[in-house]
Amino acid sequence: MRLSQFHLRTEKETPADAEIVSHKLMLKAGMIRKLAAGLYTWSPLGLRVLRKVEAVVREEMNRAGAIEMAMPSIQPKELWEETGRWAKFGPQLLKIRDRKEQEYCFTPTAEEAVTDFFRQEIASYKQLPVNFYQITSKFRDEIRPRFGVMRAREFIMKDAYSFHADDESLHAQYRTMYDTYTRIFTRLGLKFRAVAADTGAIGGSASHEFHVLADSGEDALAFSETSDYAANVELAEAVSPGARPAAAETLRDIETPTQKTCEEVAALMGIALARTVKSVAIMAGDGDGGGQFVLALVRGDHSVNEIKLAKLPGLADYRLATEAEILEYLGSEPGFLGPLHAKKPVRVVADRSVSALADFVVGANKPGFHIAGVNWGRDLPEPETADIRNVVEGDPSPDGSGALRMARGIEVGHVFALGRKYSEAMKCTVLDASGKAVNPAMGCYGIGVSRIVAAAIEQNHDDAGIRWPQAMAPWQVAVCVINPKNDPAVAEAAETLHAELNAAGIDTVLDDRGLRPGAMFADIELIGIPHRVVVSGRGLEAGTFEYRARSAAEAENLDRAALLARIANG
Ligand code: ATP
Ligand code: MG
Repeated sequence: MRLSQFHLRTEKETPADAEIVSHKLMLKAGMIRKLAAGLYTWSPLGLRVLRKVEAVVREEMNRAGAIEMAMPSIQPKELWEETGRWAKFGPQLLKIRDRKEQEYCFTPTAEEAVTDFFRQEIASYKQLPVNFYQITSKFRDEIRPRFGVMRAREFIMKDAYSFHADDESLHAQYRTMYDTYTRIFTRLGLKFRAVAADTGAIGGSASHEFHVLADSGEDALAFSETSDYAANVELAEAVSPGARPAAAETLRDIETPTQKTCEEVAALMGIALARTVKSVAIMAGDGDGGGQFVLALVRGDHSVNEIKLAKLPGLADYRLATEAEILEYLGSEPGFLGPLHAKKPVRVVADRSVSALADFVVGANKPGFHIAGVNWGRDLPEPETADIRNVVEGDPSPDGSGALRMARGIEVGHVFALGRKYSEAMKCTVLDASGKAVNPAMGCYGIGVSRIVAAAIEQNHDDAGIRWPQAMAPWQVAVCVINPKNDPAVAEAAETLHAELNAAGIDTVLDDRGLRPGAMFADIELIGIPHRVVVSGRGLEAGTFEYRARSAAEAENLDRAALLARIANG
């Protein structure tokens, strides 16, 4: 490829509206352009990188025995109603109507569509196991599309779906996909980690997420220091603390005229934040919870884990209580809430660590007051106790080995053992060995192909721009020509080298744009080409090329053999 015949448009200024480095660099390098919120055009340069990622994913999926196919982007409402997910996905589903007023959604994932395909195609257990995959656009009407292609409304996902005659076969395939993902992210040169994950809206029994580790990651991950325990904080268990100490203090009101947060109250009283208790007022869903008012209690130094809370009986569709509801049930404004002296009966759910407290501090349900010296069993009935908080650094690991450390991650892959949730809901069956119709077990396996491009930049950049891992670079080598117009011999030598490298299977671009060296090198560094070779009149005379690895501080002059060896070594 010759850059003079390509479309490369880089920018000197760093775009002001981009928050994270990958978004900035993708715009600056001209890889993507915004069309509308969460919708991006991939420029020719961006597309080259995207295709490299796709190629690795495709190769490894094929190697694992999965079979590629393609399903429609637009899917009928009726199909999604078979599983109840038309409603469950809610506003995340991007919907359209056709001219007959029939409703459709743009596919956010394809469990329904693939199960429909399967039930038309496959009749016998003898045809199992099978794993179908596609690499296509997916659509989600994200509440907050942001960070460029990291959280977009249209994005490229590789999604695979496996079908099995029994659970054993499903778990073997789950393991194969886990290993395949490990190969994919390793080949892409990413620092990543697999963590146990919540099964969320997709459902199922086992689930792991693959995260690229980066400070800008939206997910918090917890790892044991001493074992291989690793989980998304959404899921990571906060283990029960030791036994509750005996009550030592008497109950008393504390004047807190302006102190509304636990931090302010602890500071005023000169006590540890861990002795204060935060009361979060919520309403159980109007469905099975019947609009019940609930106080969720966590220690002042902890935070509520919304996913854990929603798993408690009756709380699946909970929401935060309104100020009017808080006034009705507790008789106070927010900032002074607590489980004592409520106006109406409330359900109290205490985190394990709150249940283990003695002599703690809560809001008094009276503006300007808190209550200290509170004790379970004496001042309050024994609470309903559950794990409802996020783990924090230093908590004991739930597997009993060591303490937890925290890291941030970008979710780039997710594997689920689904079981029979979809095959049952969609009446999808195969005949087993005895001729009986049975629902196949399923697994599903996603990779955020376009998100990987951004995630890789988060891990691989410097002041000059992107530093692509080999497997993702738009080209492996840039051959830069100084003054091609003035010096035909130089132009010819560069052409020859460019052609030779490409013929040897090394993806090489010729920078024949005739730019001044400074501008040319800045572009090549910004777009992250791993190897830069400069062909100049001076070099030709000396029989050398100037070579610089993107990761090296200095350039060096190498003869042809040494140059080829250097490039071949990566
Ligand atoms: P997230 O928690 O980041 O919203 P998810 O858990 O909803 O993602 P999955 O349903 O597991 O996503 O989809 C599979 C993969 O698709 C994810 O691991 C992620 O890499 C990618 N992905 C999901 N949503 C987006 C998005 N809005 N933009 C880009 N990639 C996405
Ligand atoms: Mg996920």
